[in-house]
Amino acid sequence: MLLLTVMPAVAAPMNAFRESAVTNPHGLIIFVRQQLDQAGTTLTPTRERELLWGMGTAAINSNDDAALAEATLRLDGLATMGHDPVAAAAAGFLRARHDIANGLGDGLGEALKAADKVLGEADPEIVAWARFQLCDAYALDEKAAKALPLCHQSIEAYRALNDDFGIGDAENDVGIALATLNRVGDAATAYERSRRYYAKVDAEQLVVMVGDNLSKMYLKQGRAREALALSQASLKQELAAGRISDSLDSRTDIAQAQAALGHHRQAYAQMREAVARARKAGINGQLIDMLRVESRLAEQAGDLRHALADEREAARLGSTVDTPALRAIEVELEQRYAVREKELRISELEHANELKDLQLKAAQADAARRREEQRRQRLVNLTIALLAAALLLIVGLLVLLLRAQRRHAAELQAQALRDPLTGIANRRAFQQRATELLGRPREAHALPHVLLLIDIDHFKSINDSIGHPQGDRVLRLLTDYLRIAVGSCFVARIGGEEFAVLCPQAGLAAGLRLAEILRAGVAALMLPKDLQVARLTISIGVAQFDGVRCHDLSSWMRAADLALYAAKSGGRDQVVASKLVG
Ligand code: GH3
Ligand code: MG
Ligand code: MG
Repeated sequence: MLLLTVMPAVAAPMNAFRESAVTNPHGLIIFVRQQLDQAGTTLTPTRERELLWGMGTAAINSNDDAALAEATLRLDGLATMGHDPVAAAAAGFLRARHDIANGLGDGLGEALKAADKVLGEADPEIVAWARFQLCDAYALDEKAAKALPLCHQSIEAYRALNDDFGIGDAENDVGIALATLNRVGDAATAYERSRRYYAKVDAEQLVVMVGDNLSKMYLKQGRAREALALSQASLKQELAAGRISDSLDSRTDIAQAQAALGHHRQAYAQMREAVARARKAGINGQLIDMLRVESRLAEQAGDLRHALADEREAARLGSTVDTPALRAIEVELEQRYAVREKELRISELEHANELKDLQLKAAQADAARRREEQRRQRLVNLTIALLAAALLLIVGLLVLLLRAQRRHAAELQAQALRDPLTGIANRRAFQQRATELLGRPREAHALPHVLLLIDIDHFKSINDSIGHPQGDRVLRLLTDYLRIAVGSCFVARIGGEEFAVLCPQAGLAAGLRLAEILRAGVAALMLPKDLQVARLTISIGVAQFDGVRCHDLSSWMRAADLALYAAKSGGRDQVVASKLVG
C-alpha cells in the first residue's frame, strides 16, 4: 500500500502525487478515495483538485476507467462550483490523455483547449504544469515535431522552478518524441538525462522505468549488453509492482537483446515464456507484436514450424474476420517458409555430407595410424628377432671360443707332459705318474711296482756316424717299438736316449721278464737299410719298489739307475736287477 503520510512542504499545485501515480496507481486511487470520504467537505478546493488530479493520472496509468470518470466528474464539479479554470483544465487534460491513449476522438484538441484555460494563469507552477501536459499529449500522440518545442519549453519552465522531477518527466517525453522520429541516439541521450533528473530526486522506480525506454534505443544502437541489463532491471521492478503489461514488454526486450547477443535459443525460450504469460493474462493487444517477435526468434532458432504458427496467429489476431487478404498473407507465408525449410534441409544435407566426409577422413586417419602402428610393431619384432639372433650368435661364439680355449689349454697341458720328438710321455709326465702311483694306498698281497730304466748303447757313436737327424729317427723307431712292447706298462722318454717303463704291481720277476723281452726285441729289430745302423741294443736296469731300500721316487730311480749302470759296466745289451746290485 502506498504511503503518502509525508506531504511536500510546499506542494506544487498539481504535482504532489505525480510519482505515485506512475509507480503505484492503484494504491493512489484507494488513498484518494479514502481522503475524499473521510475529509468530505473540510478539504480545500485546491487540495481536492490536487487529489483528484493524482487519482485521474493514476486511473489513466492503470487503465481504470471508473476511477478516471470519477476524477474527471469531480474535477468538472469543482470547476463549475468554484469557477476554477485549473480544475477544468485538469479534467480536460485527463480526457485528452485517455482519448489519445485509446485512439478515440480528438485528444489533442481537448488538450489544447485545456491548456488554453490556464496558460494565462499567474502561477508559474501551473503554467509549467500545463506546458508539460501539452508536451506529454503531443509526445503520446506521436506528433514529435510539435511535441519537442513544447517539451523544451516545459523543461525551461521546470528549470526556473528548480523542479528536477518535472525535468525528468519532460526529458522522458523528449526521448519518446525523438524515438518516434527514429533519432535513436538523441532519444537515448534524452532518456539518459531523464534518468539523471529522476535519480536526483530519488525517484528510483522512474529511473528504472525510463531505463525501459532507453533499453529499446540501446538495442537499436547495437548496445545489446546495456539494453539487456536495463530490461532485466525493469522486469524485476515490474514483477515486484505487479505491472504485468510492462513486464511483458521487458521480457520481449530481454529476448531481443539476447538474440542480438547471439544467444538465439535462450532468446527464443525467453520469448516463448513471455508469450505464454501474455496469453494467460489475456493481453491480446500486446500479443500481436510479441508473436511477431517470437516468430522472428523462432526462425533464428531454427523452429520454422513455430515461426509460421506465430505469424499466422498474429495475422489472425490483427484481423477479426477471415478475409481473402488474410488468406493471401497465409499463402505468402507458407510459400516463404516452404522455401526456408527447403534451404534448411539443403543445409542439413550439406551438414550431413560434411559430417560423413569428416567421418571418412577420421576413419582414413585411423586406418593410417593402425598401419603405421603395425609397421612399427613389425619393426620392433624384427629388431627383437635380430637382437636375439645376434645374442645367440655371440653366445655361440663365446661357447666356441671357450671350448677352443679349453682345448688349447688342454693341449698346452698335454704338450707340457709330452715329449715333442717321439710323442710319448716326457720326464715330467713320468714323475707325475710315478708320484701318483706311490701315493696310492698299497693293497694287501699286491706285488710291488717295478721300474725299468732303459738307455741306448753307444748312441753317441750312432749319432756321430749317421748324423743327428737320423739319430732322431732311431729314437722314434725305438719309441714305436717300446710303446707296443711294454703292454699295459707306462713308457716315457725321460732323457736324451733314456726311457723309463713303469709297471704297477708287476713284481720283480715279471719286470725282469719284460726287460728281457724288450732287450731281446730291440737287439733283434730289423732297422731300415737306409739308416745304415747295423744293430741297436739297449741296457736295462730293473728295480722293484720294496718300500725299504726304495722308499720314495728318487731312491727308487737311483736303485734302477745303479742297476742300469751295472748293465753298462757288464758289457751292455743286458738286463740287471737292482737287488742283484751290491
Ligand atoms: P753308452 O753305451 O755308455 O751309453 O754310450 P753312449 O754313447 O750312449 O754314451 P752317452 O749315454 O754318454 O751318450 C749319449 C748321447 O746321446 C750323447 C748325445 O749326442 C746323444 N743324444 C742325446 N740326446 C739326443 C737326441 O735327442 N738326438 C740325437 N740324435 N742324439 C742324442
Ligand atoms: Mg745315456
Ligand atoms: Mg747311451
